[in-house]
This record gives sequence, C-alpha cells and structure tokens, in this order.
Amino acid sequence: MKQQICILGSTGSIGTQALDVISQHPDLYEAYALTANRRWKELAAQARRFHPAAVVIADETFYEPLVKELADIPDVKVYCGSKALEEIVESPSIDMVLTAMVGYAGLAPTIHAVKAKKKICLANKETLVVAGEMILQLAQQHHTPILPVDSEHSAIFQSLVGEDGNEIEKILLTCSGGPFRRFTHEQLKTVTAADALKHPTWDMGAKITIDSASLMNKGFEVIEAKWLFGVPADKIQVLVHPQSIVHSAVQFRDGGVKAQLGVPDMRLPIQYAFSFPKRLHLNGDRLDLFRQPLEFFEPDVEKFKCLAMAYEAINKGGNMPCIVNAANEIVNAGFRRGLCSFLAMGDIIEQTMQQVAFDSNPDYEVYVQTDAEARRVAQDIMNNQ
Ligand code: NAD
Ligand code: MG
Repeated sequence: MKQQICILGSTGSIGTQALDVISQHPDLYEAYALTANRRWKELAAQARRFHPAAVVIADETFYEPLVKELADIPDVKVYCGSKALEEIVESPSIDMVLTAMVGYAGLAPTIHAVKAKKKICLANKETLVVAGEMILQLAQQHHTPILPVDSEHSAIFQSLVGEDGNEIEKILLTCSGGPFRRFTHEQLKTVTAADALKHPTWDMGAKITIDSASLMNKGFEVIEAKWLFGVPADKIQVLVHPQSIVHSAVQFRDGGVKAQLGVPDMRLPIQYAFSFPKRLHLNGDRLDLFRQPLEFFEPDVEKFKCLAMAYEAINKGGNMPCIVNAANEIVNAGFRRGLCSFLAMGDIIEQTMQQVAFDSNPDYEVYVQTDAEARRVAQDIMNNQ
C-alpha cells in the first residue's frame, strides 16, 4: 500500500523537494493533496504531474483560474480558502501531512491534522514556536507522531535513534551563521534584503532566508528543539558552523556526542521523516570530508539581537514566543519590502514584546488574539519609526 501524503505548501522550497522525493519512490508514496497560497499556475502544473485527489488554493482570488486550468482533469478536486486546508488534512485516505507552509498560517491546519491522527512531518517551525506546548499535548493525547523535517531537528532525531531512556545532557544546535556572519555592527546598518537573500549554504524560501540572516531562525529552532525533545533552552547550545555539514548533535550523560553529517540537502530530512525508521536511497552528492575543514564558533548575540530575543521569549514562556513570532513576521516582510532596516527588526520585536499583554497560560483563543495584537503593535511601531 502506498502512503498517501498531503503537502501543505507544495509550491515552496520544501514542498517541491518533497515532490522530488515522492517522484523517486513512486512505489511507496503518492501525493494525495497539494496546496498553495497564491501560486495557482505552479499548483496546476503539479496537479497535472502528480494527479492528486485534491488541490487547495488558500487565496480564494485564484480559485476560478485554477478550476478553469484543471477543467480537463475533473478527478482532481479543487478547493479554496484556509478552512479547506483544515478540512483536507482530515481526509480518511491521508497517512501523513507534510507541513511546509510558511508562518503562523500553518498552526490551524496542523492542529486539525494532529487531531485527525495523521503522522506529521513538521517543516513549519512557526507552529511549535507559537504553540509548542499545546501541539505536543495534543499529539500525546491523540497518539500522533511528529517527525521533524528541519535539518537540525532531523539530525538530533537521527542521533537519538536507539537511545530510548538515555538522558540528553546537551543539544548542540548548529547554525551556518548566515550571509552576515563576519559583518560588523556598522556594516549591518546598511545591508539590504537582496544581500540577506544570498544564503551561503541553503536554498530556501524568502521568509526563512531572512530569518537565517538575522539568526531569528536559530532562535526559533531552539524553541522547536525544546518542545520536540523535551530539553530546556539552557541545555541547547547554538554553534556557528559555516560549512553546514554537521547538521546538529546530541551529548549524552557519559560525555558521548552523536551527530548526523551530510551535504546540505533538505531532501534527506524530508525523506527520512517519510520513511522512518527505514532509510531509502537518495540520489545526489555525497559528503567528502577531505574537501573542507569543519569549523565551530560561538554566536554573537549582541550583534544578532534576534537570537537573544528568542531565548528571552522561551525563558519567559506563555504567549511570549507567539508575540515574537508575530512581530517577526511583520518585520521580516517589512525588511523585504524596504520598510525597515536589518537592525530595526530586532528593535521592533523587542518593543512589541514589551507592549503586548503577557499571558502565562495561553489556550488556542489566546494565541489567536496574541498573534493579531502583536502584528498590529509591530506594524504600528514599524510605520512610526
Ligand atoms: P516557501 O516560501 O518556499 O514556501 C511556502 C509554501 O507555503 C508555498 O507553497 C506557499 O504557497 C505556501 N503558503 C505561504 N503562505 C501561506 C498561507 N498563508 N496559507 C497557505 N499556504 C501558504 O517556504 P519554505 O522555505 O519551503 O518553508 C516552508 C516552511 O518550512 C517554513 O515554516 C520554514 O521555516 C520551514 N523550513 C524550511 C526549510 C527550507 O530549507 N526551505 C528548512 C527548514 C524549515
Ligand atoms: Mg533549520
């Protein structure tokens, strides 16, 4: 029986690489549902190639052109709107849901998929940043497995195979350092979105590429690791490793350290989440350790304030990470549109954290309100700076 997969965000960087994995193992996997936000032409082309049972376009403006485009293949059902995303993941035929949408929008469909007991292959880290505690509780309650797709978390997960019951002493979370690793504070004042979009080792969507340049991405990954592996933030150490070869590591109580290494290729963690505990063949480059040295440095949290903000948020807990995520989505988009500078991003997030009401024990409704309020506050600060 082929595993039926729903890809939330199939037109993105993770989504298209997941389709590549599926196309390499047609005997094992089938795309059951594909979804996108606005890129309806790409979604239609994917529907022709992979023939899913359904496609969903989140932005309703593009429903009609998509329906017209797919009129000659009526067995591919076409839906639209964010509610349709929540419904499609619950389809009885679906075995796994790959959450490859970007941002807070991934939270609601992920909750639905967890409740429907679909195996979650989790790329959308914002889900765990915003509501990690709630998601993990739901997953436990519904016996839903969550497998990490983020390369660092997949590396940690792979290092933990066979270690059941062995206490983690420390997680070593690696970080490329982004394109501005060697920049001075002075130089950071004038960097542009175009500079930030030139990531040295990974080819990813625009939002996460900016987050990688500001190191907010690494801060989010600390939060993600805390929830996925039940390790407090003070036992998660970030190491700048410019080669992106050691994808992360785990240190155990006897001092032993296990890491997962490989060339930077997101298809490996995507495929491993699909196939776990098995490993399948993957075409592509192989690691050549003779070719490059492996270097590790401490991150500079003064220069990269966003990483410090993320640690502060996780230490505070409650809805604080949700506030940081929402403010970050605003400044990240603002920076890409030239509305705020690189360094202003951290400052606006910091001010938003001070201005939005703190709730130490949020439920889903509180997250929804917090997200809306933090966006409004961050937008206001950005407009008036
Ligand atoms: P991307 O921008 O390339 O793709 C995002 C996808 O989500 C697209 O298909 C888009 O149509 C869809 N989408 C965007 N907003 C949406 C909305 N409001 N409603 C419905 N669909 C929406 O992003 P990406 O780089 O593939 O990243 C996806 C997620 O995976 C992010 O959460 C990111 O942090 C995480 N991630 C990505 C990588 C990577 O290598 N790209 C690595 C680790 C984690
Ligand atoms: Mg990562």
